[in-house]
Amino acid sequence: MPSGVYKRTKEHNWKISQANLKNPVKYWLGKKRPPISEEWRKKLSKAKKGEKNSQWLGGKSFEPYNPKFNNDLKRKIRKRDNYICQLCDKTEKEVGRRLSIHHIDYNKKNCKKNNLITLCCGCNNKVNFSRLDWMNYFKKRIANEHIRQKLTLFKKSNI
Ligand SMILES: [Zn+2]
Repeated sequence: MPSGVYKRTKEHNWKISQANLKNPVKYWLGKKRPPISEEWRKKLSKAKKGEKNSQWLGGKSFEPYNPKFNNDLKRKIRKRDNYICQLCDKTEKEVGRRLSIHHIDYNKKNCKKNNLITLCCGCNNKVNFSRLDWMNYFKKRIANEHIRQKLTLFKKSNI
């Protein structure tokens, strides 16, 4: 490498250090950065992970899926939901890919039909936030669907 490159770099570094001396980060000027105490460090890490994290639900996302949650079951749920996202009403064609099956109570082991609902991948991402609200919403929805189905069956049997 030509020496000029090194020279320029050194000069550049010097200029930067001079600029820093003239205009230092004010807050720490003349002060020693206080060390983070062990207690505080623990508090910080506790706040960041584990139960305090809103995404944390007893580590459920690390649990494996129930083996019952297979393609056959997913197909049945999609069919029940008319192959439509139950939140935004988009079809598989509109989304351009398979619709996902969402676990209403976020428990991947709970594969009862009333715990499963068809969502597009966009809506499936959406329901990862405010989980409790979505859970209640879908539970009510599934319950209403149940009543509706019962009513149609009842009407049919009366004909
Ligand atoms: Zn959707």
